[in-house]
Amino acid sequence: MQYYSTNHQASHVPLKEAVLKGLPADNGLFMPETIPQLSAGFFDKISSFSFQEIAFEVSKTLLQDDLPENVLQNIVEDAINFDAPLVQIEENTFCLELFHGPTLAFKDFGARFMSRLMEHLLQDSKVELTILVATSGDTGSAVANGFLSVEGINVIILYPSRKVSEIQEKQLTTLGNNITSLEIEGTFDDCQQLVKQAFLDKELKEKLMLTSANSINIARLIPQSFYYFYAYAQLSKKNNVCVSVPSGNFGNLTAGLIAKKMGLPVSKFIASTNVNDIVPKYLETGLFEPKPSQKTLSNAMDVGNPSNFARMLELYKNDPGKLGQNDVIGFSFDDEQTKATIKSVYEKFNYLLDPHGAIGYLGLSEFRRQETGVRSLNEITGIFMETAHPAKFKDVVEEVIGEKIEIPERLQVCLQKEKQSTLLSNDFDELKDFLL
Ligand SMILES: *Cc1c(COP(=O)(O)O)cnc(C)c1O
Repeated sequence: MQYYSTNHQASHVPLKEAVLKGLPADNGLFMPETIPQLSAGFFDKISSFSFQEIAFEVSKTLLQDDLPENVLQNIVEDAINFDAPLVQIEENTFCLELFHGPTLAFKDFGARFMSRLMEHLLQDSKVELTILVATSGDTGSAVANGFLSVEGINVIILYPSRKVSEIQEKQLTTLGNNITSLEIEGTFDDCQQLVKQAFLDKELKEKLMLTSANSINIARLIPQSFYYFYAYAQLSKKNNVCVSVPSGNFGNLTAGLIAKKMGLPVSKFIASTNVNDIVPKYLETGLFEPKPSQKTLSNAMDVGNPSNFARMLELYKNDPGKLGQNDVIGFSFDDEQTKATIKSVYEKFNYLLDPHGAIGYLGLSEFRRQETGVRSLNEITGIFMETAHPAKFKDVVEEVIGEKIEIPERLQVCLQKEKQSTLLSNDFDELKDFLL
């Protein structure tokens, strides 16, 4: 399989180059030339498969030309070694819990798979790879954890100063070893811009083998499609499945659209955002208007210029109307609504949401409300994704429910360590000097 750029100027490349480079030379994003379908037999038997079996089948369908089966199987088994249970919250409403990995957020799936794939692809080469990653909170720690102590790879994390939670900052800055953290005076968008600029810089490109680990890397997107299939497998009633995805940079939702292209019967995706509502606005008006991001409680979704939008458009290039009119609907919600939802879901169903999951729940509820009258409520089998463990956002959650919550052991350990980071301005030359 070859990979092409969404900007259509750069040449098509094999998997190895797409993954190790991260970004094509024309500043677009890599996409697979074709998205093959899974067989009908696979869907007939899907409920009898384990998560790892599903992940292996899906990845094999996408990657079998590029990797030997046994290598792929090892990567899948090593990377996807924790569960993604589908938990029923109320009638016909299910939460897909994606926070059972080492950093308690869904980004563990992408980061763990990508690190193992890169390690394999670098096997015979002598060069050191430098991974630059911009994070609004959770990406950095997932990537850092995924790559910790991987031979031949250094990770440099850029995060916006004072715009991530204390727990997130500790997770980003306490690993040491081959992981370096840079605290940037600016927003997440500044961090992302700096990373993009670094990739386009001639001198850096000559002196370092730079790559990206943001959701712009195709190797992170692929494993994110696995759990859409697994969620579907866990449903006992599989009719009219609608999935609400709390979104920021739209990698997660794009992976869902890829799963649909591979044959997964999802009738509607709900793009649920906080007030950074660029994509819901686009779905409503047809106008894509990036803006500076605004800080919210669901800070991992504070993105004013979602990168993966280019991929979403690309998936629908033959039928652009279908994106907004049929397959995806968008809603946005503010911090007050987020807090009220954490409280009411806790009180009514004894289920504790984090601010991102709350946005996912809100999106599904709003979709249901709009559909009332169109069809009866229980015709919709609704899934929303819970992308982070509530303990990662302990301050907000405790304040909202008025109770102390338990912190999982692996978080407590990292909270006790010392922060190690370097403060830089959002000026590119400062970053460049640091890297050289
Ligand atoms: C990154 C993140 C999101 C947004 O995912 P995208 O793929 O960028 O849309 C949502 N929730 C949490 C907890 C995250 O870390």
